[in-house]
Amino acid sequence: MTDATPDTYDYGRGMDALNRATGRLRSRHEGGDPTQPTRTWLDKDLTPDGIRSSLTIILDTGGCRWARAGGCTMCGYVSESENAEGVSHEALMSQIESAIEYEAANADEPAAVVKLYSSGSILDDREVGAPSRQGIAERFADRERIVIESLPDFVTESRLEPFLDAGLATDVAIGVETATDRVRRDCVNKYFDFDAVVDAAKTAHEAGASVKAYLLLKPPFLTESEAIEDAVSSIEQLAPLAHTISVNPTTVMEDTLVEELYYDNGYRPPWLWSVTDVLEQTATVDAIVVSDPVGAGNDRGPHNCGECDETVTRAIGDFNRRQDPSVFDEVSCECEVTWESVCERETSYNMPLVN
Ligand code: SF4
Ligand SMILES: [Zn+2]
Repeated sequence: MTDATPDTYDYGRGMDALNRATGRLRSRHEGGDPTQPTRTWLDKDLTPDGIRSSLTIILDTGGCRWARAGGCTMCGYVSESENAEGVSHEALMSQIESAIEYEAANADEPAAVVKLYSSGSILDDREVGAPSRQGIAERFADRERIVIESLPDFVTESRLEPFLDAGLATDVAIGVETATDRVRRDCVNKYFDFDAVVDAAKTAHEAGASVKAYLLLKPPFLTESEAIEDAVSSIEQLAPLAHTISVNPTTVMEDTLVEELYYDNGYRPPWLWSVTDVLEQTATVDAIVVSDPVGAGNDRGPHNCGECDETVTRAIGDFNRRQDPSVFDEVSCECEVTWESVCERETSYNMPLVN
């Protein structure tokens, strides 16, 4: 475990320039209905058991402690957590019931996989107490698999037990962002080291659970080629720890440091060609590697030239399902030359080279 924790920063110790900057940019939206989840949706996901239907629930738990201390440079999710003082057990269970009602109204049968996120940590007692975790595990005991978002600090055997005891294949979803500590600290402003991820994965595996890791493609302050290199190397280092690695290309979210850089012409979201390049380069690693670019084709999201964005995004979706890099042989566009030139010539002194 690393020495730094969200608590360190809760009490004003060790605050750094990035935390002051990110904290200043956060907006507060207090007083939402604590009995309703932030968002719920149905989808299909590739799991170690094949493609399965999934129900994703973003719980409103009061959100991430780290975000309230300033938080990560690209994360705007704190604005979605409307009840900063926390949410009661009863309200959390109402959120779960409300998501199940949504599912019943929109799907023929209950999803095999339930994915629980909070833009924070479901395993943090301050967000979701032990009785709520027990209640949630019992409520979903009829499903195959549950995915639980958590920062690595909060992963303990006892906190995973309710889900495992309910007979659920249990994945801890960790926002690792990068395997490079310097990039995580200086570009993402996330407080833990990669060692903490290794420890959390070991704890999860020993308990009988698994890990799903999330990476950030192109944090601020990295050039396009540095971002690609960092993502490829991170996937290689994470493959022995996680059965699935999800590569999230950065999207410019509101009230974030990334947004401020973007408005000052200091940041361009990654090219979709960078996503396909990372997926192609890591196609042989022993893990499922997927990417679900949010806001693809928009100026604030990962994008190419505008002409090919839809086709390339569709190819990425195909790759997610089939894990076959030959899907990218089918797509090409003139803008690939521009992307290659950006990869060759962009430096930290002249980025972004092209918008
Ligand atoms: S990315 Fe995760 S750890 Fe960072 S501020 Fe957002 S919710 Fe918190
Ligand atoms: Zn193009």
